[in-house]
Amino acid sequence: MMFDVPKILDIIKTRNAKTVGFQFPEGLKRQGPALAKEVEEKSGALVIVSGDPCYGACDIDEGLLGIVDVLFHFGHSRMMDDERIVFMEYYHDVDVERAVINALPLLGRKVGVTTTVQHIHKLDEIARTLKNADREPIIANGDSRVVYPGQVLGCNFSAVPEGVDSILFVGTGNFHPVGMRLARKLPVVAADPFTGEARLVDVEKMMRQRYAVMAKAMDAKKWGIIVGMKPGQRRMELAKRIKGLAGDAVLISIREITPDRLQSFKVDAFVSTACPRIAIDDAGMFPAPVLTPIEFEMLKGKRKWEDMAFDEIKG
Ligand code: SF4
Repeated sequence: MMFDVPKILDIIKTRNAKTVGFQFPEGLKRQGPALAKEVEEKSGALVIVSGDPCYGACDIDEGLLGIVDVLFHFGHSRMMDDERIVFMEYYHDVDVERAVINALPLLGRKVGVTTTVQHIHKLDEIARTLKNADREPIIANGDSRVVYPGQVLGCNFSAVPEGVDSILFVGTGNFHPVGMRLARKLPVVAADPFTGEARLVDVEKMMRQRYAVMAKAMDAKKWGIIVGMKPGQRRMELAKRIKGLAGDAVLISIREITPDRLQSFKVDAFVSTACPRIAIDDAGMFPAPVLTPIEFEMLKGKRKWEDMAFDEIKG
C-alpha cells in the first residue's frame, strides 16, 4: 500500500501541528516506523506511532489522541466526527472481476452488492460485471456508521438493500458474510478477490456453536456485563438495560477483551456489549460463556428464539 504522504504533510502544515499520532491496523503497523521517519523529515513535526492493537475505526487510541495535535488513523473509513482525527482509508488494487464471475452461478437475479472499504473503489466494476451477466445489482446507502453505499463493517450491515434475492459480498474472511446471512436471512455469496473463489455462505456451524454457548449460560446466576471502552464500541445504555434484566450483575469496562482479563471475574456468564466479533470469534477461549445482547435477551425470554439476529452496532 502507498500512503498519501503529500496529504499527510498538507494537513500537518495547515493545522500547524507539532506533534502527530499515527494509528494503524495490525496489517499495516509494520510500515509505521518508515512512514513516521519520512513524515518527521519532511514536516519537522514529531510523530508518535500507536503500539496498541487496532481492529477498526471504532478503535481510536484515545490516550494518544490526548497528547497529539492531530491523529492519523489509517486503513479505515470515518466512523466518528472529531476534527482531531483524520481517517486515511486504503484500497487494494486487486482485480475483482474473476471472483464476481465465479459468484454468478450462485446468485439470484436481483443482487445486493456489498464490500469493505478496501474494495469500495471497485463497486462500479462489480456492478458492471453483474449487469453484463444479466443480473440487477442493487447498491444501497448505509447509516452514519459507514461512509459509502454498499460498504459493510463486521458490526454494521445497514447498506444491505431490501428487496433483493441474494447478497454478494466482495472481500476476504468469513465474519462479514456470516453476519449478513444472519442479519438478513438471505443467501449470501462471498467472493474473495485474492483467491478468485466464490462460495455460498453457510451459518449452520456457527449457529450450533452459538446455541451451545447459550445452553451453557442457561443456569447462570451471576453475570458480568461488559462495556467496551473503545469509543466506537461503547454502548452504555444497552449495557445498563442488560444489567437491569440480568439481576445479579456487575458492569465491567474493558478495552481489550481477552480470556485472561475475564478470568479475574468470578461470574457464571458474560454479556458483551462491545464489538460483536469478540463473543463470536473467540467463543471457546473464554473462561465462561460470553453472549451477545441479543442472545441474552433470547435466554431471558425477552426475544423469541426464531428472532435470533446478529448483534449490529447502528450508526
Ligand atoms: Fe470492526 Fe468490531 Fe469495530 Fe465493528 S466494532 S468496526 S466489527 S472492530
